[in-house]
Amino acid sequence: MNIIFLGPPGAGKGTHAQRLTQEMGIPQISTGEILRAAIREGTPTGLRAKAYTEKGELVPDAVVIDIVKERLAKEDCKNGCILDGFPRTVPQAEALATFAAIDAVVNFVLPDEAIIRRLSGRRVCPSCGLTTHVSALNGKDTCPECGSRLIQRKDDLPETVENRLKVYKEQTEPLIAYYQGKGKVKDILCENHTVEENHAQVRAALGLDA
Ligand code: ADP
Ligand code: ZN
Repeated sequence: MNIIFLGPPGAGKGTHAQRLTQEMGIPQISTGEILRAAIREGTPTGLRAKAYTEKGELVPDAVVIDIVKERLAKEDCKNGCILDGFPRTVPQAEALATFAAIDAVVNFVLPDEAIIRRLSGRRVCPSCGLTTHVSALNGKDTCPECGSRLIQRKDDLPETVENRLKVYKEQTEPLIAYYQGKGKVKDILCENHTVEENHAQVRAALGLDA
């Protein structure tokens, strides 16, 4: 099953994708993670992508389309995958349709204030990849899983958060109507629910417990 996770930054797409990937045995393909790894490694793609991601702008379509196309051609995607953060523009969705059939689009819905609160308090572990929030850390700055010093992503700084939200509304939100037109969208109302509750909603939306 090929599944798209759609929704604003900070809605929890990554968290739910990580869990679902384990439960379903299909890989999570996060274009954000792939780009961050390319930037860390200083590959040509990384060098091209760096300035865009730091400003909260989208990396050019051609770059991410190539990344996803190559990734989907790998053996581990033959039974499907979870696309987390791709497509993010209508041209990306149109390109995707030429090389993959999409079974479901899970749309994470979260109001702006909640998005801003979540992103500005988000901290990540550079060693084990854990994502957490300052409100869960009791003033500590170390990873509860592995003890490494947590960091704040550059694009989670306040000015950038606002820009990412604007970019989301202008370029990505139109995809909801695009996929609604194809009858594939399942909304997940995220606000005021625990991760557990939202995960149950995602499973139900995909018919996994039927
Ligand atoms: P978010 O928390 O905003 O969902 P991601 O980790 O998915 O963050 O993406 C981080 C950044 O990587 C984006 O702000 C953008 O610059 C770039 N990026 C990720 N996916 C795409 C995509 N499909 N198209 C263009 N740029 C992308
Ligand atoms: Zn850690």
